[in-house]
Amino acid sequence: MEAIDLIVRGRKVILPGAPDAAPASIHVQHGRVSAIAAASQDLPAGVPVFDAGDLVLMPGIVDPHVHINEPGRVDWEGFSTATRAAAAGGVTTLVEMPLNSIPATTSAEGFRAKLAATAGKLNVDVGFWGGVVPGNTAELRPMWEAGVFGFKCFLVPSGVAEFPHVTEKDLRAAMPVLAELGAPLLVHAELPGPIEKAEKAASGSKAAATRYATWLASRPAEAETEAIALALQLAREFNVHIHIVHLSAAEAAPLLAAAWANGTKFSVETCPHYLTFAAEGIPDGATEFKCAPPMRDKDNREKLWAALGDGLIDFIATDHSPCPPEMKCRETGDFLKAWGGIASLQLELPAVWTLAQQRGYSVQRVAEWLCLRPARLAGLGKQKGTIAVGCDADFVVWNPEGKFRVQPSELYQRHKLTPYAGMEMRGVVAATFLRGRKIFERPVTSQDTPVAANEFATAPIGHVLKRGSR
Ligand SMILES: [Zn+2]
Repeated sequence: MEAIDLIVRGRKVILPGAPDAAPASIHVQHGRVSAIAAASQDLPAGVPVFDAGDLVLMPGIVDPHVHINEPGRVDWEGFSTATRAAAAGGVTTLVEMPLNSIPATTSAEGFRAKLAATAGKLNVDVGFWGGVVPGNTAELRPMWEAGVFGFKCFLVPSGVAEFPHVTEKDLRAAMPVLAELGAPLLVHAELPGPIEKAEKAASGSKAAATRYATWLASRPAEAETEAIALALQLAREFNVHIHIVHLSAAEAAPLLAAAWANGTKFSVETCPHYLTFAAEGIPDGATEFKCAPPMRDKDNREKLWAALGDGLIDFIATDHSPCPPEMKCRETGDFLKAWGGIASLQLELPAVWTLAQQRGYSVQRVAEWLCLRPARLAGLGKQKGTIAVGCDADFVVWNPEGKFRVQPSELYQRHKLTPYAGMEMRGVVAATFLRGRKIFERPVTSQDTPVAANEFATAPIGHVLKRGSR
């Protein structure tokens, strides 16, 4: 029998299908899980052991919705800073969005530029989505064959010129190709019609741009529900898996339930910020809370939790979308001019856990939402998002009881402005493993307060993930 490289064990291990965290001993060989043994088993001599003790040992988190902006807009974010934030947050795999970099990933050539920009910078494993934009149907197959996991499109202006939005007509040109490839289509589901209507209704009113309510009113729930109805219709018609990104409007629940009932191929994500914040609590001028679609009211937030609990929403992704602080217009507090986007890679686990445990959800459910199901969307279900023999040995070890207050200066993302600043959260990451190697460790004091001496692996060991490479 070949030698084991590492044993990671603990008393609270999250294994697939188990109702509760259980003691287990995970054997690692060549970066993959080679066996799962009883924790009480005698340890083979000479094998390094990491003992998680009473901390939770969970699969590494998979975040399929991340904007890194490199190449072309590295002053916004970059592979180095974003993947350090990921490692510190227990995220071991992320799938990067095709826009906000220059070039955008809307052609095979753009994809090559993206891959070249990753060299030597990845602290975690990173895969890529391609983009569907008007007129690029002929580029979809070359991008797919080069290794993207699927495609993303916008139904409203995306905010950047390199990534124009598509109309139904554009999508009808792309869908037959996506069906042939078997590629999922991720949809930013807001339609321009209801937004224009809201703009018309607001014109002439003196609604201050510094009020959050002004921004909220400009992006009505109907923009989401009408777009989702269209996307689900196209999914049925062309037999393409549609994934609705960052659902905010709980009004979509009946549409999703109906699509479930009639067998439409689709999935839905929401984001930590829609599950955390509510419009009522957002101060005037606090543009760090701006994102699109917007965070809605308290009642909507609780309905999103219920939809997640019922399985109508499949999982949670961050939509990590940073920009330089001046683009957030914090000085003027102008919600209409500010860039929309929230960067939360490092805080996803504690943000979700803090509210999930208050609502009675278990760590197992959180692992489904953050690990198992996001991996499946990218076709990575046999490699990532679960602790099982043959899967990559990606783990996050964390303390669900540990509390901390969010200090922006402790975030590894390039720019620190965050709506989570000052919030008390539960869930402290103690160590992150990528393919059997410890890439991050944070000493935890007896008070469970994280201390400053954070440690990264000396060199970034993340891989580029390509579709079909395993
Ligand atoms: Zn996004």
